[in-house]
Amino acid sequence: MSKFNSLADFATKRFRLAGKAYLENGDPFFAPIDRLRHEAEARGDYFVSFANYDYLGLSTHPAIKSACADALETTGVGALASRLVGGERAAHHILEQSLADFLRTDAALTLVSGYLTNVTTIAHVMGTRDAIFIDELSHNSIVSGAKSAVAETIIFRHNDLDHLDHLLTEKRGQFRNVMVIAESLYSMDGDIVDLPALVALKRKHNAWLLIDEAHSIGVLGAEGRGICEYSGVDPNEIDLIIGTLSKTLASCGGFIAGKQAVIEWLRYTLPGFVYSVGLSPVISAAAHMALQLVQKETWRLERLRRNAELFVELAHEAGLDTGPAIGRGVIPIMFRDSHETLAASAYLMENGFYVPPIIQIGVPKDQPRLRFFLSASHSEAEIRGVISLLGQNLPAQAPATHPISAAG
Ligand code: PMP
Repeated sequence: MSKFNSLADFATKRFRLAGKAYLENGDPFFAPIDRLRHEAEARGDYFVSFANYDYLGLSTHPAIKSACADALETTGVGALASRLVGGERAAHHILEQSLADFLRTDAALTLVSGYLTNVTTIAHVMGTRDAIFIDELSHNSIVSGAKSAVAETIIFRHNDLDHLDHLLTEKRGQFRNVMVIAESLYSMDGDIVDLPALVALKRKHNAWLLIDEAHSIGVLGAEGRGICEYSGVDPNEIDLIIGTLSKTLASCGGFIAGKQAVIEWLRYTLPGFVYSVGLSPVISAAAHMALQLVQKETWRLERLRRNAELFVELAHEAGLDTGPAIGRGVIPIMFRDSHETLAASAYLMENGFYVPPIIQIGVPKDQPRLRFFLSASHSEAEIRGVISLLGQNLPAQAPATHPISAAG
């Protein structure tokens, strides 16, 4: 018999265990950002967000707005069925072909969510007598995919390829197919995988390789083509490249890129694609236009690089700890404990900078941080401003009321 009278009782207890106490001084999450921006502008203040992964600053680009308006006018909003049985829109093909061309792979397939793309692909491809080797700091969508698969999951230490080599040497023989999964640019630490070394390991152990490029498209590489371009690796060495349309491409949805035979098989069999609606044609048009802009407005990538480098340089001058970040789109500032992190976030918010605290969810409990997403749209003054605030003495405790919840 359950000791809970209702699901609501159960949920209340679970939420408390999950760290609800941290919210008692005011909730820094779910900030009402449209209103906060509007109110700040009405006062003649600024509201600068480092909380959104709009890496190249494309989210409000007029060409994307007008591509959406055209698509809306000609096709309506929804795809209205699974593409397999409901028919495809021209926008689906155009986007998938341009993604494949951009990434230098044979083909690509889009799904309605990046998260779903990892879950369904990993669970579908890996079967009984197979094993999935994942980095201990993998994104939750990779962990969920591995958990949903009938295959065994084996975890290697973060970015520790010697450990992975050791595990593969010890265990490879017990399994039929083996897949190694890594991220290109890690979303909490901003560090990257050593792709050439990983490809060598994949060959040595006859493993398949899946790379999650969510945070590296439009961020890494001289032309923003991702970790392969950045590391000088032929994309054909990667069995499955997974990415999302929600970051640099400023819309939402996920994609898989790879060899023609693989993508063709997935088009007919992948549960999260076959049994889910196709991507909205409006979103497809937006992502396609964003991809064209990545290639046309190349100054954006250069600007992102300069902004991120300036951020790291100033942070270090101010004595702040940016962890293992390489200094591209994602850069954390590490704090000693959660209260200090909450206080820093609240202090920045009072001063017009939105940088949410990352505590407990998504990072180890003892490594709280403020996670900054850098963008080509940030100005030098904004970067200097936020770092100089952080470099000053921060209040030791979170204020009684968090400014976000005070405003919301
Ligand atoms: N992979 C990684 C590494 C991510 O960080 C995320 C989300 N931030 C996803 C996949 C899921 O993508 P989406 O948010 O577009 O569903």
